[in-house]
Amino acid sequence: MDNKKHLVVVGAHCGDGEIQAGAIANKYAKAGWEVTFLHLTAGEKGNPPHISVEDYREQKIREAEKVAEILGGKSITLDYKDAELSFSEELISHIATLMRELRPTIVITHWENSIHSDHALCPRLIQAAQLKAGLAGFDLSGLKPHYYPYLHSENWEDMEGYVPDIFVDVSDEFETYLKALSQYWFIMNSSSFRYYDYYSALGTVRGCVARVKYAQTLKTPTGTNVHKGNGIPGYDL
Ligand SMILES: [Zn+2]
Repeated sequence: MDNKKHLVVVGAHCGDGEIQAGAIANKYAKAGWEVTFLHLTAGEKGNPPHISVEDYREQKIREAEKVAEILGGKSITLDYKDAELSFSEELISHIATLMRELRPTIVITHWENSIHSDHALCPRLIQAAQLKAGLAGFDLSGLKPHYYPYLHSENWEDMEGYVPDIFVDVSDEFETYLKALSQYWFIMNSSSFRYYDYYSALGTVRGCVARVKYAQTLKTPTGTNVHKGNGIPGYDL
C-alpha cells in the first residue's frame, strides 16, 4: 500500500468526514489516490424517534458505505459510542495501529474547537496517534512505524476560530458530492439543522472567494503555518 497515495478522512461520526471533505476526497480518488473515510463512532444518538439507537447505528454504517462508494473511497466505522469518546491511551493506540495499517499520505480531520466534544477530541486524538504511529519505540502489533501529516476541514459545528488556509477547487466534483450526501437520512431529514442546504450553499460561498464555481476549504494545524528561511517565503534573499 506504500506506493499508492492514500487520503484518510477522520470524522467523529458517520457523515462528518464526508460533509467536510467529501468533494476533495472525490477529486483525489479520481486522480488515482486511495481514499478512506474513518468514522470513530456511527453518530447513532441522533436517531429519529421511530428508529432505535441500535438500528440507527446499523443504518448509518450502511449509509456511510454507500456514500464512500459514490465518492470513490471506502468506509470504516469503529465501535465506539456516540458522544462518549474520550482522550484515552486505548483509543490513541487503536487509531495509531490503524494508521500503521492504512499508511495515509495525508489525514484530514475536524478543527480543534467545536460545540460537540467528540469533534473537538478528533484532532487531539489524531495528533497523539501521529506520534505513536510514527515512533519506532511504540510496538503496535509488530506493524512498521508510519508518520502522517494532517489538516483540518470545515464543519458547521466546529467554526470557532476556523479561518481557512487552503481553498480546493471542487467544481467538477460537487455534483457527485451532493449526490453522496443525499444518501444520509440525517442530511436530508434532520429537524435540528439544514445540512443539505448549508453544505450546498457553503460550496458556493467558498467557491466565490476562490473564484471558481465550488470550493471546499482546509486549515493547517495551529503553529504549523510558519516559514523559516532567508527572507520572505517565495522571495528568499
Ligand atoms: Zn458529528
